[in-house]
Amino acid sequence: MADRRRPMRPVAPVPSADLPLVAIVGRPNVGKSTLFNRLVGRRQALVADTPGVTRDRKEGLAVMRGRTIRLVDTAGLEEAAPDTLFGRMRASSESAVRDAVLVLFCIDARAGITPADEHFAAWVRKQGRPVMLVANKAEGRGGAAAAMEAYSLGLGEPVAVSAEHGEGLSDLMGEIVDHLPPEPEPEDVFEEEDEFEPDVEAQDPDAEIVLPARPPGPIRIAIVGRPNAGKSTLLNCLLGEERMITGPEPGLTRDSVAVTLHDEGDVFEVVDTAGLRRKARIDEALEKMSVSASIEALKMAEVAVLVLDATLGVHEQDLQIARLIEREGRACVLALNKWDAVEDRNATRQAILDRLSISLAQMRGVPVVTFSALTGASVQRLLPAVREACEVWNARVPTGALNRWFEAALERHAAPLVDGRRLKLRYMTQVKARPPTFVIFGTRAEQTPEDYKRYLVNGLRETFNLPGVPIRLQTRGTK
Ligand code: GDP
Ligand code: GDP
Repeated sequence: MADRRRPMRPVAPVPSADLPLVAIVGRPNVGKSTLFNRLVGRRQALVADTPGVTRDRKEGLAVMRGRTIRLVDTAGLEEAAPDTLFGRMRASSESAVRDAVLVLFCIDARAGITPADEHFAAWVRKQGRPVMLVANKAEGRGGAAAAMEAYSLGLGEPVAVSAEHGEGLSDLMGEIVDHLPPEPEPEDVFEEEDEFEPDVEAQDPDAEIVLPARPPGPIRIAIVGRPNAGKSTLLNCLLGEERMITGPEPGLTRDSVAVTLHDEGDVFEVVDTAGLRRKARIDEALEKMSVSASIEALKMAEVAVLVLDATLGVHEQDLQIARLIEREGRACVLALNKWDAVEDRNATRQAILDRLSISLAQMRGVPVVTFSALTGASVQRLLPAVREACEVWNARVPTGALNRWFEAALERHAAPLVDGRRLKLRYMTQVKARPPTFVIFGTRAEQTPEDYKRYLVNGLRETFNLPGVPIRLQTRGTK
C-alpha cells in the first residue's frame, strides 16, 4: 500500500548535449511554464535544480514525432535579475536563446499584444535564431483576434494553442519538428537496421561483426493489454500522480503522445498511451480496436509491457497481443496485474506461464513481474525489468562462442535429412540486434525445416540467456 503514488525519482537530464535545444521565451504570465510542463509531459521531473546542471534555466526532455528535444523554460527567472521588466526578460532569456536551434516566442492571445511583447520581439528577432510565434490561451474562440494581431510582431504566422487545456499541441509539436535541423544521423530505432549481407566465401567463422550500439535516448515502452487489464491505472501509478491519462476534462489527453519516466538514472518513455485511450474510448468494437492500437504503440516501442489481469488468467485476446509483440520483434515483460486480488498466487502464476509458453514458444522464459497497479505494491519492479529486457533485446553474441555452441548443437541433433540428403549447416553469425537475429550458412541451409530451427532458437535462448525477446533465425544457402 505504501507504494501508491510513489513518485519516480527526479534526476538530472540525461546527457543530452547533442539534442536540439528549443527555448520558450515571452513576457511573464503568458503561460510559458504551463506550456513547458505540457510538452515535457511530467511536471518537475526534469527541472534542472540538481547540482551540476545550469542554474539559470529549467530544462527538460520532450519527445515529439519520435524526436527528442531539450526544452528550456525561461519563466520565473525574471526576479533574479535587476532592472526593468525588459532587462529581466532579456537577462533570463539570453543564454537560452543563444544556444537554441529554435525559439518559441509566446504571447497571451487573450491579453493581446502588449508593448512588452513588441519590445521583446524586436530583441529576439535581432538574435538571429529561428523563431516560432506561439499564441497561447487561445482555447475556445478567445484567441482568434489576438492571433491576427500577432502578425504585427514580425515573427511569422502564430500557432494558436491552449497550454492549459491541451489544445493545438499536436500541431505545435509538428511545427516544432518541422523547424528543427535535420537529425545528425539516422537514429530512428523503428527503422530496420540494414540487413547485413556477409560475403559468404570470405566469411571467417570466427570474425566478429560489429553491430551498431543502441542509439542514445529513453527506453521506449508500449503498455499493451486488453481493456480493463489496468494499463492506465499502471501508468498513473508510475507517474506518481493522477494526471493526463484519466483526467475528466475533454481534450486533456488528446495531444499527449509520450510520457517520460525516470528510475535509477534511466529514462523511459511510454509511447502512444493517448492513442490507446482514445481508441478504446471512442470505438465500440473495443476488442478489435485494442489490438490495432497495440500495433501502433508496438511499432514505436523497444519493450512491450504486456499487462494481464491476473484474476482472469490468459485469454485468446492476450495471446493475440503477445503474438503481435513477437511479430513486431519487440522485447516483452509480462506484467501480472491485480495481484492484490489473486488468492493462490503460486498456482495462478504457474497456470498463466504454462498457458503462454504452450501457445507461444517465444514467450518461454519471459520476465514476469507481479504487482498491483491499484495499490502500487511492487510496481517499482517493473522498470528495472524493462531495462533488462531492453538490454537483452540489444544483445550481441560473440561469433566464436556462437559457433562453438552451434557445433555442439549439431552434434546433439544432427542436421536433418531433406529429400534423403543431409543438410550441411556450416556456421552461424548474428547479423542484427533489436531483436537478436542470426543467420545459418550452409549447403541448402534455406531448406532447414521449421522444427529444427525451433530447436536451434530454443538453444540460443537458453545458452546465451535471451529470455523474453523474439529471436530471428535466417538461413542462407551456399553451394
Ligand atoms: P509564465 O509566467 O509565462 O511561465 O506563465 P505560467 O505558465 O505561469 O501561466 C500564467 C497563468 O496563465 C497561469 O495562471 C496559468 O494557469 C495561465 N495559463 C497558462 N496557459 C493558459 C491557457 O492556455 N489558457 C488560459 N486561459 N490560461 C492559461
Ligand atoms: P485499462 O483499460 O487497461 O487501462 O484498465 P484500467 O486501468 O482502466 O483498469 C480497469 C479496472 O481495473 C479499473 O476498475 C481499475 O480500478 C481496476 N484495477 C486496475 N489495476 C488493479 C489492481 O492492481 N488491482 C485491482 N484489484 N484492480 C485494479
